[in-house]
Amino acid sequence: MKKKFLCPHCGGLLSDQNGVHLNVVNGRIDQKGKIILSKELGNYEVKKSPLLGWQNGDQLTVSCIHKKCVLNLVNDSKKAAVVLQEDGKTSRIVFSTVIGDHLTYKIEKDAHVTHYGKANPNEGKDLWSQFTW
Ligand SMILES: [Zn+2]
Repeated sequence: MKKKFLCPHCGGLLSDQNGVHLNVVNGRIDQKGKIILSKELGNYEVKKSPLLGWQNGDQLTVSCIHKKCVLNLVNDSKKAAVVLQEDGKTSRIVFSTVIGDHLTYKIEKDAHVTHYGKANPNEGKDLWSQFTW
């Protein structure tokens, strides 16, 4: 099972064996940095650049490491999306951009939604309709 995480805008590869690499800005303190998310959905361990400060409740602007495409959702900037390719299937992974807010949705083309963390089951279908499939 090889998982590849991609930028939904430029198609650039975001993942390697260490995790999913993203650029972030913490708007509250106007700091930029890099984070690495786990490729395992529902695992909320995050590696971040040592100088990047944050506290629970801070909201990040998340962007792609290739062309700085902003990954926060247009309709809900407290969430961001990446593309997951796994076993020949493509899905969207939506995750919270708020520190300490552990929720993730795996949204498949057939509108099947898997929830992780504190995700709200009612929200999945609504998110599905926001993507172009
Ligand atoms: Zn991109």
